[in-house]
Amino acid sequence: MPTTSTPDPDVDLVVVGCGPVGLMAAIRAAQQGLSVVAIDRLTEVYPLPRAIGMDDEIQRLFATAGMLDGLRSCSTPMPGAEFQDRDGRRVVGYDLTPGLVGPNGHPPVVAFDQPSLERLMQTQALAVGVVLRLGVEVVGLTGTTVQTNKGDITGRWILGADGASSVVRKLLDIALEDQGFDESWVVTDTTLLDPQLPLPRNCIQHCDPARVITFVPGHGTRRRWEFQLLPGETDDEMSTRERITELLAPWGTAAELQIDRVAVYRFHATVAERFRVGDVFIAGDAAHQMPPFNGQGMCAGMRDADNLAWKLAAVAAGQADTRLLDTYDVERRPHARGQVEHAADAGRLINAIAHGGEAALESGYGGGRSFPHLEAGCVTGDHPRVGYPFPQPVVDGTGFDHTLGDGWASVTTAESRTDLPAGLRRVDADPAQFPGLVESGVTVLVRPDRYVAAVTNHTTDALHALGAAGMHFG
Ligand SMILES: Cc1cc2nc3c(=O)[nH]c(=O)nc-3n(C[C@H](O)[C@H](O)[C@H](O)COP(=O)(O)OP(=O)(O)OC[C@H]3O[C@@H](n4cnc5c(N)ncnc54)[C@H](O)[C@@H]3O)c2cc1C
Repeated sequence: MPTTSTPDPDVDLVVVGCGPVGLMAAIRAAQQGLSVVAIDRLTEVYPLPRAIGMDDEIQRLFATAGMLDGLRSCSTPMPGAEFQDRDGRRVVGYDLTPGLVGPNGHPPVVAFDQPSLERLMQTQALAVGVVLRLGVEVVGLTGTTVQTNKGDITGRWILGADGASSVVRKLLDIALEDQGFDESWVVTDTTLLDPQLPLPRNCIQHCDPARVITFVPGHGTRRRWEFQLLPGETDDEMSTRERITELLAPWGTAAELQIDRVAVYRFHATVAERFRVGDVFIAGDAAHQMPPFNGQGMCAGMRDADNLAWKLAAVAAGQADTRLLDTYDVERRPHARGQVEHAADAGRLINAIAHGGEAALESGYGGGRSFPHLEAGCVTGDHPRVGYPFPQPVVDGTGFDHTLGDGWASVTTAESRTDLPAGLRRVDADPAQFPGLVESGVTVLVRPDRYVAAVTNHTTDALHALGAAGMHFG
Protein backbone atom coordinates (compact mmCIF):
# COMPACT_ATOMS: atom_id res chain seq x y z
CA MET A 1 0.00 0.00 0.00
CA PRO A 2 1.42 3.41 -0.87
CA THR A 3 1.81 5.65 2.15
CA THR A 4 1.65 9.40 2.22
CA SER A 5 3.90 11.29 4.53
CA THR A 6 4.53 14.95 5.22
CA PRO A 7 7.82 16.04 3.68
CA ASP A 8 10.62 17.25 5.94
CA PRO A 9 9.93 20.82 6.95
CA ASP A 10 11.58 23.60 4.97
CA VAL A 11 11.27 25.88 8.01
CA ASP A 12 10.04 25.81 11.62
CA LEU A 13 7.05 28.08 11.06
CA VAL A 14 5.06 29.16 8.03
CA VAL A 15 2.85 32.16 8.78
CA VAL A 16 -0.04 32.68 6.37
CA GLY A 17 -0.99 36.37 6.37
CA CYS A 18 1.22 39.41 6.95
CA GLY A 19 -1.32 41.62 8.66
CA PRO A 20 -0.32 42.93 12.09
CA VAL A 21 -0.97 39.60 13.83
CA GLY A 22 0.95 37.41 11.37
CA LEU A 23 3.85 39.85 11.35
CA MET A 24 4.00 40.00 15.16
CA ALA A 25 3.95 36.19 15.38
CA ALA A 26 6.69 35.94 12.75
CA ILE A 27 8.87 38.56 14.47
CA ARG A 28 8.51 37.08 17.97
CA ALA A 29 9.09 33.53 16.69
CA ALA A 30 12.22 34.57 14.78
CA GLN A 31 13.54 36.55 17.74
CA GLN A 32 13.22 33.42 19.87
CA GLY A 33 15.19 31.27 17.45
CA LEU A 34 12.72 29.81 14.93
CA SER A 35 13.20 29.90 11.16
CA VAL A 36 10.11 31.62 9.74
CA VAL A 37 8.55 32.21 6.33
CA ALA A 38 5.63 34.65 6.23
CA ILE A 39 3.35 34.74 3.19
CA ASP A 40 0.83 37.31 1.99
CA ARG A 41 -1.17 37.49 -1.20
CA LEU A 42 -0.85 41.30 -1.21
CA THR A 43 2.36 43.05 -2.19
CA GLU A 44 1.53 46.24 -0.25
CA VAL A 45 0.06 46.71 3.23
CA TYR A 46 -3.75 46.99 3.36
CA PRO A 47 -4.49 50.72 2.88
CA LEU A 48 -8.05 51.15 4.25
CA PRO A 49 -8.96 52.47 7.73
CA ARG A 50 -8.93 49.81 10.42
CA ALA A 51 -7.25 49.62 13.85
CA ILE A 52 -6.48 52.97 15.49
CA GLY A 53 -6.19 52.29 19.26
CA MET A 54 -3.58 50.17 21.05
CA ASP A 55 -3.50 49.43 24.79
CA ASP A 56 -0.46 49.47 27.08
CA GLU A 57 -0.01 45.68 27.07
CA ILE A 58 0.49 45.65 23.31
CA GLN A 59 2.76 48.72 23.38
CA ARG A 60 4.84 46.70 25.85
CA LEU A 61 4.93 43.86 23.34
CA PHE A 62 6.17 46.28 20.68
CA ALA A 63 8.95 47.28 23.08
CA THR A 64 9.87 43.62 23.69
CA ALA A 65 9.89 43.06 19.92
CA GLY A 66 12.31 45.98 19.42
CA MET A 67 9.81 48.34 17.76
CA LEU A 68 9.02 50.89 20.46
CA ASP A 69 10.77 53.82 18.77
CA GLY A 70 8.99 53.01 15.51
CA LEU A 71 5.64 52.77 17.29
CA ARG A 72 6.19 56.11 19.02
CA SER A 73 6.89 57.72 15.64
CA CYS A 74 3.42 56.79 14.36
CA SER A 75 1.31 57.05 17.55
CA THR A 76 -0.06 59.59 20.06
CA PRO A 77 -1.37 58.94 23.60
CA MET A 78 -5.17 59.21 23.75
CA PRO A 79 -6.43 61.71 26.34
CA GLY A 80 -9.68 59.94 27.25
CA ALA A 81 -12.98 58.52 26.07
CA GLU A 82 -16.64 59.14 26.75
CA PHE A 83 -20.19 58.22 25.80
CA GLN A 84 -22.35 61.29 25.07
CA ASP A 85 -26.12 61.56 24.84
CA ARG A 86 -28.01 63.16 21.96
CA ASP A 87 -27.29 66.63 23.38
CA GLY A 88 -23.55 66.02 23.66
CA ARG A 89 -23.61 65.60 27.46
CA ARG A 90 -21.19 63.06 28.94
CA VAL A 91 -23.07 60.01 30.19
CA VAL A 92 -19.99 58.09 31.24
CA GLY A 93 -16.28 58.38 30.45
CA TYR A 94 -12.77 59.05 31.70
CA ASP A 95 -9.93 61.55 31.19
CA LEU A 96 -6.31 60.46 31.35
CA THR A 97 -3.67 62.73 32.89
CA PRO A 98 -0.98 63.64 30.34
CA GLY A 99 2.08 61.48 30.92
CA LEU A 100 0.08 58.80 32.74
CA VAL A 101 1.61 55.34 32.47
CA GLY A 102 -0.56 52.19 32.76
CA PRO A 103 0.35 49.01 34.68
CA ASN A 104 2.32 47.74 31.69
CA GLY A 105 4.66 50.74 31.76
CA HIS A 106 3.21 52.62 28.77
CA PRO A 107 0.39 55.13 28.14
CA PRO A 108 -2.97 53.37 28.70
CA VAL A 109 -4.01 53.84 25.04
CA VAL A 110 -2.31 55.32 21.99
CA ALA A 111 -3.82 56.24 18.63
CA PHE A 112 -1.81 54.97 15.70
CA ASP A 113 -1.96 54.55 11.93
CA GLN A 114 -2.34 50.88 10.96
CA PRO A 115 -0.69 51.03 7.50
CA SER A 116 2.36 52.86 8.98
CA LEU A 117 2.53 50.28 11.76
CA GLU A 118 2.43 47.36 9.31
CA ARG A 119 5.23 48.90 7.23
CA LEU A 120 7.30 49.23 10.41
CA MET A 121 6.60 45.59 11.24
CA GLN A 122 7.59 44.38 7.77
CA THR A 123 10.93 46.17 8.19
CA GLN A 124 11.47 44.59 11.62
CA ALA A 125 10.47 41.14 10.31
CA LEU A 126 13.18 41.35 7.66
CA ALA A 127 15.68 42.66 10.22
CA VAL A 128 15.17 39.64 12.51
CA GLY A 129 15.49 37.16 9.64
CA VAL A 130 11.89 36.40 8.65
CA VAL A 131 11.61 35.46 4.98
CA LEU A 132 8.72 37.55 3.61
CA ARG A 133 7.01 36.18 0.53
CA LEU A 134 4.60 38.85 -0.67
CA GLY A 135 2.30 38.37 -3.65
CA VAL A 136 1.94 34.67 -2.77
CA GLU A 137 -1.55 33.25 -2.20
CA VAL A 138 -2.27 30.15 -0.13
CA VAL A 139 -4.82 27.93 -1.85
CA GLY A 140 -4.51 24.59 -0.04
CA LEU A 141 -3.20 22.82 3.04
CA THR A 142 -2.15 19.20 3.49
CA GLY A 143 -0.75 18.34 6.90
CA THR A 144 1.78 21.10 7.45
CA THR A 145 2.37 21.77 3.76
CA VAL A 146 0.71 24.85 2.32
CA GLN A 147 -0.02 24.96 -1.37
CA THR A 148 0.40 28.39 -2.92
CA ASN A 149 0.11 29.85 -6.41
CA LYS A 150 3.94 29.87 -6.40
CA GLY A 151 4.60 26.31 -5.15
CA ASP A 152 4.42 24.33 -1.91
CA ILE A 153 6.12 25.08 1.38
CA THR A 154 6.27 22.82 4.43
CA GLY A 155 6.66 24.02 7.97
CA ARG A 156 7.05 22.10 11.20
CA TRP A 157 4.12 24.32 12.25
CA ILE A 158 1.66 26.49 10.31
CA LEU A 159 -0.04 29.62 11.61
CA GLY A 160 -3.13 30.92 9.82
CA ALA A 161 -3.18 34.67 10.52
CA ASP A 162 -5.03 35.31 7.28
CA GLY A 163 -7.81 37.53 8.54
CA ALA A 164 -11.58 37.29 8.91
CA SER A 165 -12.16 35.19 5.78
CA SER A 166 -9.26 32.89 6.66
CA VAL A 167 -8.57 30.20 4.09
CA VAL A 168 -6.59 28.23 6.67
CA ARG A 169 -9.57 28.20 9.07
CA LYS A 170 -11.86 27.03 6.25
CA LEU A 171 -9.44 24.33 5.10
CA LEU A 172 -9.29 23.07 8.70
CA ASP A 173 -13.11 23.05 8.74
CA ILE A 174 -13.22 25.12 11.93
CA ALA A 175 -16.61 26.75 12.48
CA LEU A 176 -17.13 30.23 13.94
CA GLU A 177 -19.34 30.60 17.01
CA ASP A 178 -21.56 33.64 16.57
CA GLN A 179 -21.77 35.91 19.63
CA GLY A 180 -24.74 37.81 18.23
CA PHE A 181 -23.68 41.19 16.83
CA ASP A 182 -24.10 42.30 13.24
CA GLU A 183 -24.08 45.98 12.21
CA SER A 184 -22.82 47.91 9.18
CA TRP A 185 -20.82 51.08 9.73
CA VAL A 186 -19.08 53.45 7.32
CA VAL A 187 -15.63 54.55 8.49
CA THR A 188 -13.73 57.57 7.23
CA ASP A 189 -10.22 58.72 8.04
CA THR A 190 -9.63 62.43 7.46
CA THR A 191 -6.73 64.85 7.74
CA LEU A 192 -7.39 67.93 9.85
CA LEU A 193 -6.50 70.86 7.55
CA ASP A 194 -7.57 73.61 9.95
CA PRO A 195 -5.92 73.14 13.36
CA GLN A 196 -8.35 75.73 14.85
CA LEU A 197 -11.38 73.49 14.16
CA PRO A 198 -13.01 72.88 17.56
CA LEU A 199 -13.02 69.07 17.62
CA PRO A 200 -13.15 66.99 20.85
CA ARG A 201 -9.86 65.86 22.40
CA ASN A 202 -11.39 62.59 23.58
CA CYS A 203 -12.66 59.57 21.73
CA ILE A 204 -16.47 60.06 21.67
CA GLN A 205 -19.39 57.66 21.24
CA HIS A 206 -22.27 59.93 20.19
CA CYS A 207 -25.29 57.97 21.39
CA ASP A 208 -27.72 59.92 19.21
CA PRO A 209 -30.98 58.15 18.35
CA ALA A 210 -30.92 59.76 14.86
CA ARG A 211 -27.58 58.00 14.12
CA VAL A 212 -24.94 56.56 16.41
CA ILE A 213 -21.49 57.97 15.61
CA THR A 214 -17.95 57.33 16.87
CA PHE A 215 -15.26 60.03 16.74
CA VAL A 216 -11.59 59.11 17.29
CA PRO A 217 -8.77 61.67 17.47
CA GLY A 218 -5.98 59.89 15.62
CA HIS A 219 -2.21 60.31 15.45
CA GLY A 220 -0.99 63.73 14.29
CA THR A 221 -3.61 65.42 12.13
CA ARG A 222 -5.69 62.27 11.55
CA ARG A 223 -9.32 62.37 12.69
CA ARG A 224 -11.71 59.43 12.29
CA TRP A 225 -15.49 59.18 12.21
CA GLU A 226 -17.51 55.98 12.15
CA PHE A 227 -21.24 56.24 11.26
CA GLN A 228 -23.73 53.45 11.92
CA LEU A 229 -25.81 52.67 8.82
CA LEU A 230 -29.56 53.04 9.26
CA PRO A 231 -32.08 50.46 7.97
CA GLY A 232 -32.38 50.74 4.17
CA GLU A 233 -29.04 52.53 3.65
CA THR A 234 -26.70 50.71 1.27
CA ASP A 235 -22.91 50.38 1.43
CA ASP A 236 -22.50 52.01 -1.99
CA GLU A 237 -24.61 55.09 -1.34
CA MET A 238 -23.05 55.63 2.10
CA SER A 239 -19.43 55.46 0.96
CA THR A 240 -19.50 58.16 -1.71
CA ARG A 241 -17.45 61.31 -1.01
CA GLU A 242 -20.60 63.45 -1.35
CA ARG A 243 -22.37 61.43 1.36
CA ILE A 244 -19.33 61.46 3.66
CA THR A 245 -19.02 65.23 3.19
CA GLU A 246 -22.67 65.58 4.26
CA LEU A 247 -22.14 63.35 7.29
CA LEU A 248 -19.06 65.37 8.34
CA ALA A 249 -20.81 68.73 7.89
CA PRO A 250 -21.61 69.20 11.64
CA TRP A 251 -17.83 69.07 12.36
CA GLY A 252 -16.18 70.70 9.37
CA THR A 253 -16.20 71.51 5.68
CA ALA A 254 -14.13 69.94 2.90
CA ALA A 255 -11.69 72.85 3.31
CA GLU A 256 -11.19 71.94 6.97
CA LEU A 257 -11.26 68.12 6.82
CA GLN A 258 -9.69 66.27 3.92
CA ILE A 259 -11.31 62.87 3.34
CA ASP A 260 -8.46 60.35 2.96
CA ARG A 261 -10.10 56.93 3.15
CA VAL A 262 -13.61 55.50 3.33
CA ALA A 263 -14.73 51.92 3.91
CA VAL A 264 -17.93 50.18 4.96
CA TYR A 265 -17.51 47.33 7.44
CA ARG A 266 -19.90 44.79 8.86
CA PHE A 267 -19.02 44.51 12.54
CA HIS A 268 -19.30 40.90 13.76
CA ALA A 269 -18.74 39.13 17.04
CA THR A 270 -17.43 35.61 16.45
CA VAL A 271 -14.98 33.15 17.99
CA ALA A 272 -13.59 30.05 16.26
CA GLU A 273 -14.60 26.77 17.92
CA ARG A 274 -10.92 25.74 17.98
CA PHE A 275 -7.64 27.63 17.59
CA ARG A 276 -5.58 24.54 16.73
CA VAL A 277 -5.77 21.37 14.65
CA GLY A 278 -2.62 19.28 15.10
CA ASP A 279 0.36 21.39 14.12
CA VAL A 280 -1.73 24.10 12.48
CA PHE A 281 -2.89 27.12 14.51
CA ILE A 282 -5.06 30.14 13.81
CA ALA A 283 -4.73 33.62 15.33
CA GLY A 284 -6.05 37.17 15.05
CA ASP A 285 -9.15 37.87 12.97
CA ALA A 286 -8.90 34.34 11.58
CA ALA A 287 -9.74 33.12 15.10
CA HIS A 288 -11.98 35.91 16.47
CA GLN A 289 -13.70 39.04 15.26
CA MET A 290 -15.20 41.79 17.36
CA PRO A 291 -16.76 45.20 16.82
CA PRO A 292 -14.15 47.94 17.30
CA PHE A 293 -15.79 49.85 20.18
CA ASN A 294 -13.15 48.86 22.75
CA GLY A 295 -10.22 49.03 20.29
CA GLN A 296 -9.25 45.43 21.03
CA GLY A 297 -9.51 43.36 17.79
CA MET A 298 -5.90 43.65 16.77
CA CYS A 299 -4.70 43.78 20.37
CA ALA A 300 -6.38 40.41 21.02
CA GLY A 301 -4.65 39.00 17.93
CA MET A 302 -1.30 40.31 19.15
CA ARG A 303 -1.84 38.41 22.40
CA ASP A 304 -2.41 35.25 20.33
CA ALA A 305 0.81 35.91 18.41
CA ASP A 306 3.00 36.39 21.47
CA ASN A 307 1.38 33.51 23.34
CA LEU A 308 2.05 31.06 20.52
CA ALA A 309 5.52 32.29 19.54
CA TRP A 310 7.25 31.56 22.85
CA LYS A 311 5.57 28.15 23.15
CA LEU A 312 6.71 27.04 19.68
CA ALA A 313 10.22 28.32 20.47
CA ALA A 314 10.29 26.44 23.79
CA VAL A 315 9.26 23.17 22.10
CA ALA A 316 11.80 23.66 19.29
CA ALA A 317 14.56 24.30 21.85
CA GLY A 318 13.63 21.19 23.86
CA GLN A 319 12.59 23.27 26.89
CA ALA A 320 9.02 22.00 26.60
CA ASP A 321 7.12 19.09 25.12
CA THR A 322 4.14 19.36 22.83
CA ARG A 323 1.66 19.47 25.74
CA LEU A 324 2.63 23.13 25.99
CA LEU A 325 1.07 23.71 22.56
CA ASP A 326 -2.29 22.47 23.90
CA THR A 327 -2.29 25.46 26.24
CA TYR A 328 -2.51 27.90 23.30
CA ASP A 329 -6.19 27.12 22.72
CA VAL A 330 -6.88 26.62 26.43
CA GLU A 331 -5.49 30.08 27.26
CA ARG A 332 -6.31 32.19 24.27
CA ARG A 333 -9.82 31.08 23.26
CA PRO A 334 -11.67 31.97 26.51
CA HIS A 335 -9.61 35.18 26.78
CA ALA A 336 -10.53 36.24 23.24
CA ARG A 337 -14.16 35.23 23.78
CA GLY A 338 -14.26 37.48 26.85
CA GLN A 339 -13.09 40.41 24.75
CA VAL A 340 -15.50 39.65 21.90
CA GLU A 341 -18.41 39.57 24.37
CA HIS A 342 -17.26 42.80 25.98
CA ALA A 343 -16.92 44.57 22.61
CA ALA A 344 -20.39 43.41 21.51
CA ASP A 345 -21.78 44.62 24.86
CA ALA A 346 -20.17 48.03 24.31
CA GLY A 347 -21.99 48.23 20.97
CA ARG A 348 -25.28 47.25 22.62
CA LEU A 349 -24.73 49.84 25.35
CA ILE A 350 -24.19 52.61 22.76
CA ASN A 351 -27.50 51.68 21.11
CA ALA A 352 -29.26 51.37 24.47
CA ILE A 353 -28.12 54.85 25.59
CA ALA A 354 -29.15 56.30 22.22
CA HIS A 355 -32.65 54.92 22.53
CA GLY A 356 -33.12 54.75 26.29
CA GLY A 357 -30.93 57.50 27.72
CA GLU A 358 -28.79 57.32 30.84
CA ALA A 359 -31.00 54.64 32.37
CA ALA A 360 -29.33 52.26 29.91
CA LEU A 361 -26.24 52.32 32.13
CA GLU A 362 -28.22 50.00 34.38
CA SER A 363 -28.80 47.61 31.45
CA GLY A 364 -25.87 45.48 32.57
CA TYR A 365 -24.12 45.68 29.19
CA GLY A 366 -20.44 45.47 30.03
CA GLY A 367 -21.09 46.61 33.59
CA GLY A 368 -18.73 45.24 36.25
CA ARG A 369 -16.85 43.18 33.69
CA SER A 370 -13.17 42.80 34.46
CA PHE A 371 -10.50 42.38 31.79
CA PRO A 372 -10.12 38.68 30.96
CA HIS A 373 -7.16 36.70 32.26
CA LEU A 374 -5.68 33.25 31.64
CA GLU A 375 -7.86 30.95 33.71
CA ALA A 376 -6.05 27.71 32.86
CA GLY A 377 -3.11 26.44 30.84
CA CYS A 378 0.52 27.11 31.68
CA VAL A 379 -0.38 28.84 34.95
CA THR A 380 -0.82 27.45 38.43
CA GLY A 381 -2.20 28.39 41.85
CA ASP A 382 -5.03 30.58 43.01
CA HIS A 383 -3.21 33.85 43.68
CA PRO A 384 -5.36 36.66 42.20
CA ARG A 385 -2.50 37.94 40.01
CA VAL A 386 -1.90 34.58 38.27
CA GLY A 387 -2.86 34.74 34.58
CA TYR A 388 -2.46 38.55 34.35
CA PRO A 389 0.49 40.45 32.90
CA PHE A 390 3.32 41.01 35.40
CA PRO A 391 3.26 44.78 36.09
CA GLN A 392 6.02 46.95 34.71
CA PRO A 393 6.91 49.89 36.97
CA VAL A 394 8.89 52.65 35.32
CA VAL A 395 11.76 53.95 37.46
CA ASP A 396 13.90 56.89 36.26
CA GLY A 397 12.35 56.55 32.81
CA THR A 398 13.29 52.88 32.45
CA GLY A 399 10.83 50.00 32.46
CA PHE A 400 11.47 46.90 34.57
CA ASP A 401 11.19 44.49 31.63
CA HIS A 402 14.87 44.75 30.62
CA THR A 403 15.78 42.91 33.82
CA LEU A 404 13.37 40.05 33.00
CA GLY A 405 15.15 39.04 29.77
CA ASP A 406 13.45 37.18 26.90
CA GLY A 407 12.77 33.87 28.69
CA TRP A 408 11.23 32.72 31.97
CA ALA A 409 12.05 34.76 35.07
CA SER A 410 11.72 34.09 38.76
CA VAL A 411 11.12 37.39 40.52
CA THR A 412 11.79 37.49 44.21
CA THR A 413 13.32 39.70 46.90
CA ALA A 414 17.08 40.00 47.39
CA GLU A 415 17.09 38.09 50.70
CA SER A 416 14.95 35.17 49.44
CA ARG A 417 16.90 31.91 49.21
CA THR A 418 15.51 29.64 46.53
CA ASP A 419 17.32 27.02 44.48
CA LEU A 420 16.28 27.52 40.88
CA PRO A 421 16.76 25.25 37.87
CA ALA A 422 18.95 26.51 35.01
CA GLY A 423 16.00 27.41 32.77
CA LEU A 424 14.86 30.15 35.14
CA ARG A 425 16.51 33.55 35.42
CA ARG A 426 16.51 34.93 38.95
CA VAL A 427 15.52 38.58 39.19
CA ASP A 428 15.62 40.47 42.50
CA ALA A 429 12.95 43.13 42.88
CA ASP A 430 12.01 45.81 45.37
CA PRO A 431 8.68 44.77 46.98
CA ALA A 432 7.64 48.45 47.19
CA GLN A 433 7.46 48.52 43.40
CA PHE A 434 5.20 45.46 43.24
CA PRO A 435 2.68 45.84 46.09
CA GLY A 436 0.60 42.75 46.78
CA LEU A 437 2.81 40.66 44.52
CA VAL A 438 6.53 40.51 45.29
CA GLU A 439 7.32 39.91 48.95
CA SER A 440 9.89 38.15 51.08
CA GLY A 441 9.79 34.38 50.72
CA VAL A 442 7.50 34.55 47.68
CA THR A 443 8.54 33.71 44.13
CA VAL A 444 6.70 35.14 41.12
CA LEU A 445 7.22 33.01 38.01
CA VAL A 446 6.95 35.22 34.92
CA ARG A 447 6.61 33.70 31.45
CA PRO A 448 8.35 34.94 28.29
CA ASP A 449 5.11 36.75 27.32
CA ARG A 450 5.26 38.59 30.70
CA TYR A 451 2.24 36.78 32.13
CA VAL A 452 2.36 35.66 35.75
CA ALA A 453 2.44 31.84 35.80
CA ALA A 454 2.64 31.43 39.59
CA VAL A 455 2.94 33.37 42.84
CA THR A 456 4.20 30.87 45.37
CA ASN A 457 6.24 30.12 48.45
CA HIS A 458 6.62 26.53 47.23
CA THR A 459 8.59 27.05 44.02
CA THR A 460 9.32 23.35 43.49
CA ASP A 461 5.61 22.51 43.60
CA ALA A 462 4.78 25.32 41.16
CA LEU A 463 7.48 24.16 38.72
CA HIS A 464 6.11 20.63 38.99
CA ALA A 465 2.61 21.89 38.15
CA LEU A 466 3.94 23.82 35.13
CA GLY A 467 5.71 20.61 34.11
CA ALA A 468 2.28 19.04 33.68
CA ALA A 469 1.60 21.79 31.12
CA GLY A 470 4.70 20.67 29.21
CA MET A 471 7.43 22.99 30.55
CA HIS A 472 10.82 21.48 31.47
CA PHE A 473 12.97 23.87 33.45
CA GLY A 474 16.00 21.54 33.58
C1 LIG B 1 -13.13 50.13 11.52
C2 LIG B 1 -12.23 49.25 12.33
C3 LIG B 1 -11.61 49.77 13.45
C4 LIG B 1 -10.78 48.97 14.23
N1 LIG B 1 -10.19 49.51 15.32
C5 LIG B 1 -9.36 48.75 16.06
C6 LIG B 1 -8.65 49.33 17.15
O1 LIG B 1 -8.78 50.51 17.43
N2 LIG B 1 -7.82 48.52 17.88
C7 LIG B 1 -7.64 47.21 17.58
O2 LIG B 1 -6.89 46.53 18.29
N3 LIG B 1 -8.28 46.64 16.53
C8 LIG B 1 -9.12 47.38 15.76
N4 LIG B 1 -9.72 46.85 14.66
C9 LIG B 1 -9.49 45.44 14.33
C10 LIG B 1 -8.19 45.22 13.56
O3 LIG B 1 -8.11 46.06 12.44
C11 LIG B 1 -8.09 43.76 13.15
O4 LIG B 1 -8.37 42.96 14.27
C12 LIG B 1 -6.69 43.43 12.63
O5 LIG B 1 -6.41 44.15 11.47
C13 LIG B 1 -6.60 41.93 12.35
O6 LIG B 1 -5.29 41.64 12.00
P1 LIG B 1 -4.93 40.22 11.37
O7 LIG B 1 -3.47 40.29 11.11
O8 LIG B 1 -5.50 39.13 12.19
O9 LIG B 1 -5.74 40.17 9.99
P2 LIG B 1 -5.62 41.10 8.70
O10 LIG B 1 -5.15 42.46 9.09
O11 LIG B 1 -6.92 41.00 7.99
O12 LIG B 1 -4.47 40.43 7.85
C14 LIG B 1 -4.66 39.21 7.18
C15 LIG B 1 -3.65 39.12 6.06
O13 LIG B 1 -3.75 37.83 5.46
C16 LIG B 1 -3.62 37.95 4.06
N5 LIG B 1 -4.27 36.80 3.44
C17 LIG B 1 -5.57 36.47 3.50
N6 LIG B 1 -5.80 35.33 2.83
C18 LIG B 1 -4.61 34.93 2.32
C19 LIG B 1 -4.21 33.83 1.50
N7 LIG B 1 -5.08 32.90 1.10
N8 LIG B 1 -2.92 33.73 1.16
C20 LIG B 1 -2.02 34.67 1.56
N9 LIG B 1 -2.36 35.73 2.31
C21 LIG B 1 -3.63 35.87 2.70
C22 LIG B 1 -4.29 39.28 3.76
O14 LIG B 1 -3.84 39.81 2.52
C23 LIG B 1 -3.90 40.13 4.95
O15 LIG B 1 -2.72 40.87 4.72
C24 LIG B 1 -10.56 47.63 13.87
C25 LIG B 1 -11.17 47.10 12.74
C26 LIG B 1 -11.98 47.91 11.97
C27 LIG B 1 -12.61 47.34 10.74
